[in-house]
Amino acid sequence: MQIRCYRCGWSFAIKKDEIAFALQALEQAGGGHHDVRCPRCRHTNRVSVEQLRRSVPRRPVETPPVVEPEPGSEEEPSEA
Ligand SMILES: [Zn+2]
Repeated sequence: MQIRCYRCGWSFAIKKDEIAFALQALEQAGGGHHDVRCPRCRHTNRVSVEQLRRSVPRRPVETPPVVEPEPGSEEEPSEA
């Protein structure tokens, strides 16, 4: 995830592991944002939970396909 420091404008990346960890911690603590320190100017940037959530690949919502039973079409007629 790319973060842009809003003090000095420096762009830097946060690892997915860190994002996942931060999300977990925030969900447990009920926090609204994650503090990310800019490696350049040490300014603390606030990244909202929403931003973090958007950056991690979400688990696809599994919707089971609707299978309609076909009446008797698959059955082979047995020859006697
Ligand atoms: Zn900075």
